[in-house]
Amino acid sequence: QQEQLLSIQLVPFDSTRKLLLTRDITSLDRVQTVHRDFVANVSHELRTPLTVVGGFIETMQDLPDMDVNTRNQQLQLMYEQTQRMQRLVEDLLTLSKLESGQQLREEEVDVPQLLQLLLTEAKGLSQGRHTVSIASSARAKLIGNHDELHSAFGNLVSNAIRYTPAGGSISLAWELRNGQGCFCVRDTGIGLAPEHIPRLTERFYRVDRGRSRNTGGTGLGLAIVKHILQRHQAQLAIQSQLGQGSEFAVKFPLQRTLD
Ligand code: ADP
Repeated sequence: QQEQLLSIQLVPFDSTRKLLLTRDITSLDRVQTVHRDFVANVSHELRTPLTVVGGFIETMQDLPDMDVNTRNQQLQLMYEQTQRMQRLVEDLLTLSKLESGQQLREEEVDVPQLLQLLLTEAKGLSQGRHTVSIASSARAKLIGNHDELHSAFGNLVSNAIRYTPAGGSISLAWELRNGQGCFCVRDTGIGLAPEHIPRLTERFYRVDRGRSRNTGGTGLGLAIVKHILQRHQAQLAIQSQLGQGSEFAVKFPLQRTLD
């Protein structure tokens, strides 16, 4: 409907205006397509777990004398599906909060302390399946929002763990490059083919849907990371080799790094 309204406003004989309005329509089209795709993706992500939970409830209603083991298995599966929906809803809320344009609440973030916290969390996630370490940690403070940075770095670390088979290693580092602070996560995991790298921060873009879901992914992690980094004027650089591992490096502008 909006598209039509814009079309009606086209003034014949004025080529500049026509060009301008045509551009408006094109960008509006893109926004509408992105929005439609997003709603379709969210619906699809919710439909599968809802179907599973609904199906088990029906079975339990039909078979009230089901044996205890089967019943417990089904309850466990239902629990996992609700956890999956909860993670999705939480990520959606985080994204929408980030997109609402609230001003960044800045504070001094103690980087080595944040790295220690990430290391502890990473060990918890890995449960001894990987070697997780801090490779280097220059003494530094970062001007930014602690909770947002914790969430962005945490997403990169949990990805490193989820996409690295058991026995692999993950290292976290805070490095100073020409005075600029850089947070790096390196893993020896499955790696990425170059064609996927530019699209990774798109919402719901996944290289392997099954692997992402099985390891608890919502497909929104890197989209959240992108928003948080934009708010801190930081850049994400991804280097990866298929089958060898990846490096996700976040570079902050000079004015955000304190010695
Ligand atoms: P997901 O919840 O699927 O992990 P993300 O937005 O965090 O969603 O990541 C998008 C995709 O990027 C993942 O599905 C995965 O294919 C790829 N990816 C992210 N981090 C890594 C990594 N460290 N190694 C290999 N692939 C990765």
